[in-house]
Amino acid sequence: MEQTKKIAWKTTIFLIVTPIVGIVGTAALILTRGIPTYTWMTFFFMVGATGLSITAGYHRLFSHRAYKAALPVRLFYLLFGAAAFQQSVIEWSSDHRIHHRYVDKDEDPYSITKGFWHAHIFWLFKDRSYREPTNVNDLWEDKLVKFQHDYYYPVAIFMGFLFPMLVCGIWGDWLGGLLVAGSLRIAVNHHVTFFINSLAHYKGAQPYSDKHTAKDNWFIALFTFGEGYHNYHHEFQADYRNGIRWHDYDPTKWLINIFYAFGLAKDLKMIPEEQILRKKMVMDEKRLRKKLAAQARILNQGFEERLVSLRQLVQERQEKLLALKAEELEVDKKAMKDAKQDFKVALKTWHRFVSGDLAPA
Ligand SMILES: [Zn+2]
Ligand SMILES: [Zn+2]
Repeated sequence: MEQTKKIAWKTTIFLIVTPIVGIVGTAALILTRGIPTYTWMTFFFMVGATGLSITAGYHRLFSHRAYKAALPVRLFYLLFGAAAFQQSVIEWSSDHRIHHRYVDKDEDPYSITKGFWHAHIFWLFKDRSYREPTNVNDLWEDKLVKFQHDYYYPVAIFMGFLFPMLVCGIWGDWLGGLLVAGSLRIAVNHHVTFFINSLAHYKGAQPYSDKHTAKDNWFIALFTFGEGYHNYHHEFQADYRNGIRWHDYDPTKWLINIFYAFGLAKDLKMIPEEQILRKKMVMDEKRLRKKLAAQARILNQGFEERLVSLRQLVQERQEKLLALKAEELEVDKKAMKDAKQDFKVALKTWHRFVSGDLAPA
């Protein structure tokens, strides 16, 4: 889809009017008659269901094919994803695949290099002469996905507005369904997703690569259903996880894990640990060299030798540990414990070295 200077009026008006109606409408309801708890519960359910349908469905399943999901799960994503009013899976995924392929370049639809607000929302204000996406052939073949694309507006309006109105109508609050669980919730959905394109390319760490602007930021993960580990994601987009450590806040990963446990998801793709560590160590070294160069330190032969031997040690010990893990039951507990400890020690030494503590002058 090409960019022109024309404005996409339909999208622009929708993006401006929805938050105004949502915020003013909700405030008016609070001031005049209050909002029933059940309506708020519907609001939070809709925020979660639609938000996760974007992150686990539109993003990790349909755009990246990071796992396979059973029919009821895909149906859920298609219905509640449409309710987020972020276009059909086909269009969303096409834009997103272009974003990954050309990140930070001119072709990137929400390139941060054109400014924070461009990446956040302004890119949507620009009219893009529509052409059928050609980088999503796998998705065109999926009959349900094609149906969602062909009937996007009726599905989106029904799921985004009528469904919460019908639910809240059960306790007589169809207006709360429209304004709170409809409009206000859509505005929340929008900006949660937009922050991944803006903030997650703007502020945070780059543990895996500095070849693009994507950042890892746990704080952004807190309100983007775990998509804040964006540096990792851009480096390893096939992985179904964004936050890879067990304690990383990634509810999208947890939801997929739950589906997996119930047999509703399978073939969860994970990048091999040694590949991840290798990339991380390259970045560690890069940062160290930069730091030492800034301090005008001369790096002698001893430094280079130490660096190589430490790197080798870490990789060897990781290989040994992974080999033991692969054997599973046949390995005795002590050997496994020792291998874990050896790897931990080597990694700790490496971290001290790359932090500059052990580097010789
Ligand atoms: Zn990105
Ligand atoms: Zn992605």
